[in-house]
Amino acid sequence: MIAQIKSLLPQIRAWHGPLTSQLVQEPGRFGLGRLPKRLLPDSTTRSICGFCSTGCSLTLHLRGNEAVNLTPDFQYPVNLGMACPKGWEALAPLKAPDRATQPLRRRANGSFEPISWGTALEEFVRRMREVQKNHGAASTAFLSTGQIPCEEMALLGALAKFGMGMVHGDGNTRQCMATAATAYKESIGFDAPPFTYKDFELSDTIVLIGSNLCIAHPILWQRILQNKRSPAIVVIDPRKTETASAATHHLPIAPKSDLAFFYGVARELICRNWISSVFVEKHTRGFSEFSTFAAAFTRERVLRETGLSNDQFEEFINLLAPDRAVSFWWTMGVNQGHEATRTAQAIINLALMTGNIGKVGTGANSITGQCNAMGSRLFSNTTNLFGGRDFKNPTDRADVARILEIPENRIPTESSWAYDQIIDGIETGHIKALWIIATNPAHSWMNQNRFKQLREKLEFLVVQDMYHSTETALAAALVLPAAGWGEKEGTFINSERRFGVLRKASRAPGEALSDFSIFRLIANAWGCGALFEKWSTPEQVFQFIKKLSAGQPCDISGIKDYAMLDEAGGIQWPCAEGAASSQISNLKFQIEQERRLFSDGRFFHPDGKARFIFEAPTPVPEPVNAEYPLTLLTGRGSSSQWHTLTRTAKSGVLRKLSPQSCYVEIHPSDAAACGICGQETLTIESRRGRITARAWITTTVPPGSVFVPMHYPEINRLTLSAVDPYSRQPAYKACAVRVSPSLI
Ligand code: SF4
Repeated sequence: MIAQIKSLLPQIRAWHGPLTSQLVQEPGRFGLGRLPKRLLPDSTTRSICGFCSTGCSLTLHLRGNEAVNLTPDFQYPVNLGMACPKGWEALAPLKAPDRATQPLRRRANGSFEPISWGTALEEFVRRMREVQKNHGAASTAFLSTGQIPCEEMALLGALAKFGMGMVHGDGNTRQCMATAATAYKESIGFDAPPFTYKDFELSDTIVLIGSNLCIAHPILWQRILQNKRSPAIVVIDPRKTETASAATHHLPIAPKSDLAFFYGVARELICRNWISSVFVEKHTRGFSEFSTFAAAFTRERVLRETGLSNDQFEEFINLLAPDRAVSFWWTMGVNQGHEATRTAQAIINLALMTGNIGKVGTGANSITGQCNAMGSRLFSNTTNLFGGRDFKNPTDRADVARILEIPENRIPTESSWAYDQIIDGIETGHIKALWIIATNPAHSWMNQNRFKQLREKLEFLVVQDMYHSTETALAAALVLPAAGWGEKEGTFINSERRFGVLRKASRAPGEALSDFSIFRLIANAWGCGALFEKWSTPEQVFQFIKKLSAGQPCDISGIKDYAMLDEAGGIQWPCAEGAASSQISNLKFQIEQERRLFSDGRFFHPDGKARFIFEAPTPVPEPVNAEYPLTLLTGRGSSSQWHTLTRTAKSGVLRKLSPQSCYVEIHPSDAAACGICGQETLTIESRRGRITARAWITTTVPPGSVFVPMHYPEINRLTLSAVDPYSRQPAYKACAVRVSPSLI
C-alpha cells in the first residue's frame, strides 16, 4: 500500500498540462479512444462536459442512440480540441452497477425496498405535506447542486417555492462559489465574472490565488501555456502545488494571511503611484477611504504576517507595473476562508485601482468549480430570485410573476436561508423534511459527525441521485433514481459566462428519469402541475430563462434556441435581443467569441461605479495551539478525482490515476517532531473527530501545516463548522489538528 501511494503521487503531480496535450494527440497510448468494430459509431452529437466549470465541448460518438465513445471538440472556443482525464472518461460513470434504477423506500428494519414511481410519488407528497401541515411550509427545504442544467434548476426552484410553498432551498454551490458571487455583487453591482478565457493568453502577469489550476482546471492551464507573451505566472498559495511548481513565481504565504497580503500590495502600489487615477476617478467610489485604510499594512507587517521575504514581495510588486496587462484569478483557496468575501474584494480592489479590468488580458476573475455553478448563481431561484433578482423586492417579484404567468402571492417575500442556516435549522427543529438533489452532503459538508447526527432529527429525507450508494442516499427514507449527464438535455453556463448545450446521448438505466421529468411528475402529484403546463421540455424552459434574463445584466434574450448555441460554439452572456445577429454573422472573428465585461468602465451599480470594499482582517476561527499544533489544509487531490468521487470512482482509468485511500502530506520537520519517519499510517485528530491516513512526507506543505485531499469520505470528520459571514461559504481551508503514528 505504501509503495502504491508512493508510486502514484508523482504520477498525479505529472498529470497536468503536457500530459493533457498528449491525451489529445495520442489517446490510444493511454488506452482511450480504442473501439472494437462492433462499437464503431454511426453518428455524433456534441455536449458540454458535466464535471467542471471550464465547459469543454465533447463530441459524442453514437451507435444508434447510444454514445459509445467521445473525443474533445476541436471547433469549440473553450477547449480547442483538448480534454482532461475526467472529460475523456465522462461516459464511464453512466454504466456503473450501483446506478439507482428504481425508486427505493426504507423499511422499518432499515433496509430499502424497490417501489413503483406511482408509490414513490405518493410517498413523497404525503410525507412532505404531512410535515408542512404539522410544522408549516417553511419546515420543508431542498438542497440542490451545480451539476444539473439551468432548465432543471429553474424548474426545481419554481416548483419548490411557487408550487410547493417552500421558503428555504440552497445549492451545493454555496460550498464553492458563494464568496465570488457575494463579492462581485457588492463590488461591481452584479454577480458578473468579467473575463473571457482568451485573457489567459493575453496577460503579461497572471496571478493565480488559491488556485491549483493544473489539476483543478487543466484546460485553462493549457490556455496559459498558449500565451505567447512569456507571461509571469505567479501562484499565491501556502502549498507548493503542481501549479506552483510549474509557475514562474510562487509566493508561499502563511495560511490565511492573504487578506493582509493584498492590502499590503495595495499600499505598495499607492506608495509608488502605480494607480490608474483617471479610471479610479471616473469609474469607482471609495478609493480615498481605501487608501487611508491600506496605509496600516506596511511592508514590515505584511512580511511578518505572510512569512514572505522582502525580495519575494518586491519582485511581485514589480510584476504589477503599470505597463503590464495583469489578470488576477482565484478559486477555492480564497472562496473557502473565514473572511473570504473581503479577500475576494481585496483582489477586485487591486484590479480596480490599477485599471486592470475591462481590458485585454486583465480582470479580477473568479474561476468557478462545478459545470453549472454559474447557472445556479443566476437561475436556481434559491437565495436569489430568478435572474439575479431579490425575493424581498416587490418590483422583482411582480416582474417574475408576470413573466412566468404565476400569481404573485406564490413568490416568497423573504430570501432563503443559506445552506448552513438550513443545516442549523434542522438542529433547532425548524427544518423537518429535506429534499436533496444530486449532491452528497453526508460526505462533503463540514463537520461530518454533526451532519450525521442531524439526520436523526429529520422526519423525512428524500435523496434524488444517479446512485443509490452515496453516503447521503444511504441515509434517505426515499431514493428517487435520476438520469445523469449524457442522459438528458439542457444548458450549462461556464466560468466565462458561456451558455453551452448538453445533449442526450444515452438512455438512463431501468426506471431512472431525468431530474426534469421527476420535477414534472412531482408537480402533477402535488397538484400544482397547471402552473408548469408550459414548462414541458427543457428547451421551453430555456425560453422562460431568456425572458427572466431580459433587461438584467445577464440578458440572453438574443439567443434564439439551442441550435443557435450549437452553431455559435456557445454564447457568453450578455447577448441581448439584436446583439446576436451580428455575433452570429461574425463567427469567424475571435473577439466575438471571446467577450469581456466593463470595457466601457460602466459597472452594474445604479451610478455605474464600482466600489472599494475593505475590512480589517480577523483571526482564524480555530487557531493552532499546543494541543492542536498543525493547520489542516484541504483541496483537490488530482485531475482524475471529482469532489466526493461519486462519479470518478466509477471509472477504472481514473481510479488508476490517484490513490484509492486517504493520504496526508506532512512536512519532514513535522513528521520528525511526531516521530514519523516513513509512509506509515497516521492518526489525524481535530476537536470534532479523528481519521487515519497514509503519510506522505514532503516539502510541498510548509512546516506547521498538513494537507488532505477533499475527495476522501473521512476528511470532513475533521473540518470546522465555520462560514464567511457575508457569503456564508464554509471555511474548509484551515482548522487545527494534531497527528500521531497510528496504533491501528
Ligand atoms: Fe474540460 Fe473540466 Fe470536463 Fe476536464 S472536467 S474535460 S477540464 S470541462
